[in-house]
Amino acid sequence: MPSIQERVTDILAGDAATEADALAVLRTPDEEVLPMVAAVARLRREHFGNTVKVNYLVNLKSGLCPEDCHYCSQALGSKAEILKYKWLQTDEAIEQASAGLRGGATRICMVSSGRGPTDRDVDRVSAMVGALKDEHPEVEVCACLGLLKDGQAERLRDAGVDAYNHNINTAESHHDSIVTSHTYADRVDTVGKAKSAGLSPCSGLIAGLGESDEQLVEALFALRELDSDSIPVNFLMPFDGTEFADRWELTPLRCLKILAMARIVCPDKEIRIAGGREMHLRSLQAQALHLANSIFLGDYLTSEGQAAEADLALIRDNGFVVLGSDEDLGAAAEDGSVALEESHDPAIRRRGAGTQLQPNA
Ligand code: SF4
Repeated sequence: MPSIQERVTDILAGDAATEADALAVLRTPDEEVLPMVAAVARLRREHFGNTVKVNYLVNLKSGLCPEDCHYCSQALGSKAEILKYKWLQTDEAIEQASAGLRGGATRICMVSSGRGPTDRDVDRVSAMVGALKDEHPEVEVCACLGLLKDGQAERLRDAGVDAYNHNINTAESHHDSIVTSHTYADRVDTVGKAKSAGLSPCSGLIAGLGESDEQLVEALFALRELDSDSIPVNFLMPFDGTEFADRWELTPLRCLKILAMARIVCPDKEIRIAGGREMHLRSLQAQALHLANSIFLGDYLTSEGQAAEADLALIRDNGFVVLGSDEDLGAAAEDGSVALEESHDPAIRRRGAGTQLQPNA
């Protein structure tokens, strides 16, 4: 079997990764992960340079969903103590989105819980998108409203929506063990409707749902087949009160391998590290940015992310710039300095030895 370095060279030359390549990356021995990441990072650099796309989620309607997705804190039967609310008003949605844009995001993901939108919901979201684009003409908007009916994707497109997210979540062969209230085919159908309407298809997966290596590979090849432009890779956040509350299958190294596998299968697609980034990658978030080229800023739909400032520092510290707003973020100037104001004062120790306070240990 050729090495990952050789296969990356082949892929750079136009070859497509095979299922065997993908499985080999997923099964990289832990002690070989760093050279593997360095090799696969060449694909990321080739297609996305040093840019990171920054996306911001606005949860327009939270919880109260009639579907039974076992992993979801908003699902029917979930006892997770999340925020639950009906539709935000347009001005509230714009206020939330504007905060994300001020923070450096270039894409706003407008999400609502539920099986799918009614025509009235499509009108409501269309009005929000129109108002948002009036205020911020340069913003890219992705809608994520569930399963679409005929004609709804076209109406969203006409309202100014640029992309539509609907994750396949897992392999077809694993789908029925994560949800029973809709089918894998339903999900694929919605991605197809979005694409046919001219919306940029965004579809990804959740790792850590009890799937096998082969099923993770199956999911990535399905996404390649669907020609998803953006691929969010979520790592299961096991909320208390959900059916998958006790699932804990991932390690930081495993997450890196999953992102690397996604990159070699879909080398020129936006690979986004999505929910569970902080919880599962932990101290390896930096390495993951050398594979993925997109993240969410700040909080997720029902859980808090790390501070938005920490997200931006993660990007900057690793030599990347935010796509579309590098100047605002103080990308390295010609003299190598950065424009961002940062504190360089060491925090004076006032605990542990020589004090009455507990040590930091
Ligand atoms: S993933 Fe979407 S459809 Fe499934 S329960 Fe959660 S909000 Fe509802």
